[in-house]
Amino acid sequence: MNPATDATRDTRAPFQPVSSLDYIPREQLRGLQSERLRQAVHHAYVHLPVYHQRMQKRGLTPADIHDLDDLAKLPFLVHTDLSDAYPFGMLGLPIGQVVRLSPFSGMGGKPIVMAYTRRDLEVWIELLIRCLACCGIHPGDVLQNACTGELFADGLGLHAAAEALGATVIPVSGGDTDRQIMGMKEFGVSAVCSTPSYFLHLVERAEKLGVNLRTLPLRAGVFVAELWSEATRRQIEESAGIKAYDVYRLPEVIGPGVGAECSHQDGLHIFEDHLYPEVIDPASGDVLPDGQEGELVLTTLSKQAMPLVRYRTRDVTAIIPEPCPCGRTVRRIRRIGRRSDDVFVIQGVNVFPSQIEAALLAVEGVVPRYQVVLAAEKGLDQAEVQIEVTPQIFSDRLSAMEALQSKFAQAIEHNLGISVAVRLVEPHSITGQQDTTGQQDQRVVDRRSTPN
Ligand SMILES: [Zn+2]
Repeated sequence: MNPATDATRDTRAPFQPVSSLDYIPREQLRGLQSERLRQAVHHAYVHLPVYHQRMQKRGLTPADIHDLDDLAKLPFLVHTDLSDAYPFGMLGLPIGQVVRLSPFSGMGGKPIVMAYTRRDLEVWIELLIRCLACCGIHPGDVLQNACTGELFADGLGLHAAAEALGATVIPVSGGDTDRQIMGMKEFGVSAVCSTPSYFLHLVERAEKLGVNLRTLPLRAGVFVAELWSEATRRQIEESAGIKAYDVYRLPEVIGPGVGAECSHQDGLHIFEDHLYPEVIDPASGDVLPDGQEGELVLTTLSKQAMPLVRYRTRDVTAIIPEPCPCGRTVRRIRRIGRRSDDVFVIQGVNVFPSQIEAALLAVEGVVPRYQVVLAAEKGLDQAEVQIEVTPQIFSDRLSAMEALQSKFAQAIEHNLGISVAVRLVEPHSITGQQDTTGQQDQRVVDRRSTPN
């Protein structure tokens, strides 16, 4: 490898923004979080009718919330609370105090609008500075900001944060990829901010143009807005000679800036002095201990215009209990691989499709197309995992196929702790299936509610 293009060649000491609370002692952080929580709950109780009602139903007032230990008593907010309240039903302050509105389309295309006061914007920029610092962006870096389309508003924040941090920013938005590649050469771009898929497009285009990105000063990619795999990360890092960092974006909460990977790339630090994370069992709503996988719930501890208390993100992750070798004291969550909507309960056990995928991967080294079909037989839940046979795993010997089927079944049973039926099916046969709501091509089809 050419040492000049080695992604790890940057030997400067880790950059720590002066304002950063990423490194404060846990005890001190907890005190700050509890104090901010009391204010946030009071703010939501007074200004959000939906939250006021939910707290009243539980017989709670803000006086019942003393510290973080009381958080689990509080009711949740969910995505539809935001879309139902569109446009201003979730405002925590009069519209006159709002300096920015960022509309976006939520689940099922229903509109949602995020509102910011001047202070909210300051906090957002502070978090994005910490985010960029986490991703190894230094003063002196040249950052090409290719956030575009739905990410236009995110791009505004990242732009301001990178400038405040002392980097040189080139706002290029999306499109005109050839021009972007030339710009990377001409301006000595050392970091790019975009979606991972746009960056892959850029890599592909650069190859066609005969530009070897590995020979450029490019060192880091700050990637937002998509769920991307470790395989994609390797592909990006190898093809461009960079380190690819995952940044957690949640438009309902704050856009990008909820959390980010540090140089260890082992989970995303959550900036929990402003956004407090919990992980819950998506079925029961109970808080899970650190290390256990479930649905991420976030509480905004300082948001003025749109405070959210215990907002269910639908993102599945786990809080990593071990401290990070980078020295940051704010906790990490595992990378978001999927949303909790797909979780299902079978024989009393919560099952995430990723557990099935891990089993399939262990057997064949790839995840073939698959679908889980849930049915009730004589009052008992039954699950069948249907797996499409690909040319790579196909054999014309029946015994080989039977052996493969039982290998899949054993691996799934090992991962889930319960046994499920496994059936190998023809290629492309899964695509045409429909569930009772008429939706196609789902990973989980639940037929338990409709008698056969
Ligand atoms: Zn770290």
